[in-house]
Amino acid sequence: VKARGWTAEALVVREIAYGETSQVVHLATAEHGLVAALAKGSRRPGPEFQGGVPLGAIGEAALVTRRGSDLALLRRFTARADLRGLRADIARFYGAAYVLDLLRAWMRPELPLPHLFRAGTTALRAMASAPPESLPGWVVWFEARALAAGGHRPRLDACVACGGAVTGAAAFSPLAGGVVHEACAPAGPRKAVSGPARRALMRLYAEPLGDLLREPFTAAQIRDVRRVHDLFIPHLLERAPSSLATVPR
Ligand SMILES: [Zn+2]
Repeated sequence: VKARGWTAEALVVREIAYGETSQVVHLATAEHGLVAALAKGSRRPGPEFQGGVPLGAIGEAALVTRRGSDLALLRRFTARADLRGLRADIARFYGAAYVLDLLRAWMRPELPLPHLFRAGTTALRAMASAPPESLPGWVVWFEARALAAGGHRPRLDACVACGGAVTGAAAFSPLAGGVVHEACAPAGPRKAVSGPARRALMRLYAEPLGDLLREPFTAAQIRDVRRVHDLFIPHLLERAPSSLATVPR
C-alpha cells in the first residue's frame, strides 16, 4: 500500500468515537475539501492528540492518505486556536453548532472551497470571544460568505426575473435566487424586502469584513437579513438544519 503524508490546516466538523481509544474525524480543509480520517489511539493521553480531537477544533492535521481507502490516517492534530469560549456561553455554542452544520452540508471530499473554509474558521475564532450582542451579526456574515463561496450569492441589485431596476420595496424569492419585483415573483415562498433591508443585504455581500466591522449593522438590519436567510438557506439545503432553530438572532 502506497502512503503519502501531508499536513493541512483543518477544522473538525464531525467526530465519532471509534473502538475504545480511537476516533473517526471529518476535517474541513481549504485545499482538499472534506477529509475523513482515522485517529488511532487519539483518546489516550499523549502528545499527538492531547487526549482527543474535539468537535469544532481548528489546528494543524498531519495526515497519511492510503491508496484504495476513503479513510486517511490522522497522525497528529495540533490545536492552533483557543476556542474554549464557544463552550463557555450557550449562545456562542449554538452559533458555532450552526456554522459546523453548514460546513458539514457544503463541504465535499476533493472539492476545495477555500473561501468557505476560511469563513468558517474566521467566524468560529471571532465568536469564541464575541459579546452576545454581536453573535447574530457573525452568523449572518458567515452565511453570506458560505453562500457566495458555494456559488449561491443572491442577486440584489436588480430584479432577477426581468433585469429591471429595483427601487423601494421588493421581494426576495429563493427560487429566483434574489430580489424580484412583486409582479415578477415566481410561484413559491417569498419575503418582502424593504429598501433599507435590501441595502443591508448588498453591504453584507459586497463589503470586506474590515468595512463591516468599522460600520456595524444595527440590530434591525441584522433581523432583516436573518429573515431572508431563514428562507433562503433551507431552500438551498432542501431542509431546515436543526441548529437553525437555536441560532443567535
Ligand atoms: Zn422584475
